[in-house]
Amino acid sequence: MGSTDRIKNVAKRVAKWHDAGYQIVVVPSAMSGETNRIIGLAKEIMADPNPRELDMIASTGEQVSVGLLAIALQALGKQAVSYAGWQVPIKTDSSYTKARIASIDDAKVNADLAEGKIVIITGFQGVDELGNITTLGRGGSDTSAVAIAAALKAQECLIYTDVDGVYTTDPRVVSDARKLNTVTFEEMLEMASLGSKVLQIRSVEFAGNYRMPTRVLSSLTDPLMPLAEEIVSGTLISFEEDTNMEQATITGIAFNRDEAKLTVFGVPDKPGIAFQILGPIADANIEVDMIIQNQSVDGKTDFTFTVPRGDYNKAMDVLNASVKEHIGAGNIIGDSKVSKVSVVGVGMRSHVGIASQMFRTLSDEGINIQMISTSEIKISVLIDEKYMELAVRALHKAFELEAA
Ligand code: ASP
Ligand code: MG
Repeated sequence: MGSTDRIKNVAKRVAKWHDAGYQIVVVPSAMSGETNRIIGLAKEIMADPNPRELDMIASTGEQVSVGLLAIALQALGKQAVSYAGWQVPIKTDSSYTKARIASIDDAKVNADLAEGKIVIITGFQGVDELGNITTLGRGGSDTSAVAIAAALKAQECLIYTDVDGVYTTDPRVVSDARKLNTVTFEEMLEMASLGSKVLQIRSVEFAGNYRMPTRVLSSLTDPLMPLAEEIVSGTLISFEEDTNMEQATITGIAFNRDEAKLTVFGVPDKPGIAFQILGPIADANIEVDMIIQNQSVDGKTDFTFTVPRGDYNKAMDVLNASVKEHIGAGNIIGDSKVSKVSVVGVGMRSHVGIASQMFRTLSDEGINIQMISTSEIKISVLIDEKYMELAVRALHKAFELEAA
């Protein structure tokens, strides 16, 4: 929501759904740029403000939005009521700036809906056990929306955003990327964790856990566009067994530019080594993604893993300290200019040869694969960041994902 004009448009769209006979709960995020602006104010005073106070500030953007939207709906003659997270309440743990939802009370909301009201609840925020305001992490209003939909056992959760759906890959990298009509929540989870930033990943986890069909739609379309048209305009995140999925082997190509890898050479190949290397990394709150341990030669092996690039220096320090302390081995080297490219698709379960096609495509482009990891529905490779876009384009073409 960018301006009061945009808010009036949201109100028109919501009123349209309500007129069609739906009970509606709306979960707005802050007006665009607002969360950055208010967090910026705190950071003008101090580089690293207290997280509790930061949440007190960051949560206000949404409070403005819900009030304005209620007023805009009332101006259209609708009954509407707005609530902050603590009024519902949406209870969370106390991890300020990245709180997790613990429970949502549906009583008040259901009573309002039964009276014909449109209910508007702040996204992004909640309240902890002690009554402190918390926020769910940047982009958290997606998670609020899906969680509220699940708590209310809604028919569907519609997420209106600045993109018009989920694409086979980022259209900024591949111009003929195609919009998907449906994607399974498992694929969406892989794509989100692999760097497609359409939705906050936790919202997809909620959708999966609570089996909440969730649709990504554009907020920029004409708000009075006919419902039947609007509903098919985005991408439905659904469940494999519920839909006759488009019969593709591969659904999309995801990528993450900002990876880094670290290798410890010549570690003794004996029980406990992986734990001794990765334990301190986990204790430092650094997320490890891909891991390779080589075949040992003369009782020694090499151990390589990847971390988010932003944690590279910290991981290197932790590793230097722990290797010296426990393992007594090895040279440590690292590379902070690597990227991960993944092909994703539930079709992989029933098709063979996806990996070889992926590797052949990269080989034809002369791209060296540094690490490989797989799950049931994705294959990821780590490559030099220089070749990331080339790899994404080549794979998108090789798996024939382009728009018809
Ligand atoms: N306003 C919050 C943010 O910018 C939440 C959201 O937009 O989803 O992160
Ligand atoms: Mg958002």
